[in-house]
Amino acid sequence: MTDLSAPLGLARDLIQRRSITPQDDGCLEVLKRALTSLGFTCHDLPFGEVRNLYARRGNASPHFCFAGHTDVVPPGQGWSVDPFEAQLVDGVLFGRGAVDMKGAIASFVAAVARLGDKHPGSISLLITGDEEGIATHGTVKVLDWMKAKGETPDCCLVGEPTNPKSIGDAVKVGRRGSLNGRLTVNGIQGHAAYPHLADNPLPRLLRILTALTAKPLDQGSAQFEPSTFTLTTIDTGNAATNVIPAQAKAGFNIRFNDLHSSASLDAWLRKTIAEAGGDADWKLDVEVSGESFLTPQGPFVDAVCDAIKDVTGKNPERSTSGGTSDARFITRHCPVIEFGLGGASMHKSDERVPLEDLENLTRIYRRVLERVLMS
Ligand SMILES: [Zn+2]
Repeated sequence: MTDLSAPLGLARDLIQRRSITPQDDGCLEVLKRALTSLGFTCHDLPFGEVRNLYARRGNASPHFCFAGHTDVVPPGQGWSVDPFEAQLVDGVLFGRGAVDMKGAIASFVAAVARLGDKHPGSISLLITGDEEGIATHGTVKVLDWMKAKGETPDCCLVGEPTNPKSIGDAVKVGRRGSLNGRLTVNGIQGHAAYPHLADNPLPRLLRILTALTAKPLDQGSAQFEPSTFTLTTIDTGNAATNVIPAQAKAGFNIRFNDLHSSASLDAWLRKTIAEAGGDADWKLDVEVSGESFLTPQGPFVDAVCDAIKDVTGKNPERSTSGGTSDARFITRHCPVIEFGLGGASMHKSDERVPLEDLENLTRIYRRVLERVLMS
């Protein structure tokens, strides 16, 4: 049996399973065994093709929840070691998921093992196998299940990598929202030599895109960087040189701060497109992957930041930068904060974590538990 009070054994066990979304490859079984031996009651929660795990020890308040995922992104190319061997090289653990985020899960379990079971309140883990994918059968569904069972936590920490350089640099107290747009402008196909007999959709599309990108969406807010509008593609699928295409399409992604909502952006997009497009025949499809959110300053955020200071001596930055995470779903249920390992190698080849980081994260997680449950 692995010694659970040290994070390395469990981290290696998890990395050695090829749990590329939505595959589980035995990850949750490994975790279940570890948590059961620590006195947790485990619930398998499969939704669709995705496996999820909810485990809780105790039922008193405060109820602290650790959220994370055991799925990983594909290894890709360019590794100097086997991405699923969990090799240790000079005190550094290599493997897909080392920082994002099997290492953090192992650190949390080690923190719980070190804490012992004589604590007030209760501890739970919400672990999904569907974070790196489209995330429809993971955290969202588990949270609904928890709510229906009266298991909604009082606060939640997500173990995503948050530190740009070293442990203790930053926590995330919010995230920008993300919206994808797909704009189609229709015209009438024709011969390039007879443009008056056709209706070219391209100049109209260009006018619309120029209007949409003419000025910044905002200058940033108190807690957030400026929102961004990024064009991701413009296409007609037209390979001919003498044909005016019937249709032109553009794709874009908007990362937005707390000055906007997906609804306000949708309205702005449609108004701007209508004004710039004139009598163009256009269609806009909008897909929202998450609204922006901000966890207000308060005792929970302070407890996590103080715990980080206890161990590292650093005052972490309270950041809202980066992409989306499952915290966007958790924020609808309880205060949520993200803190985990260093993010420098996540999703890259040779993803890796120094053992020292695993140890420091374990100490910090233990302090978080002490500060939240015992004060
Ligand atoms: Zn992750």
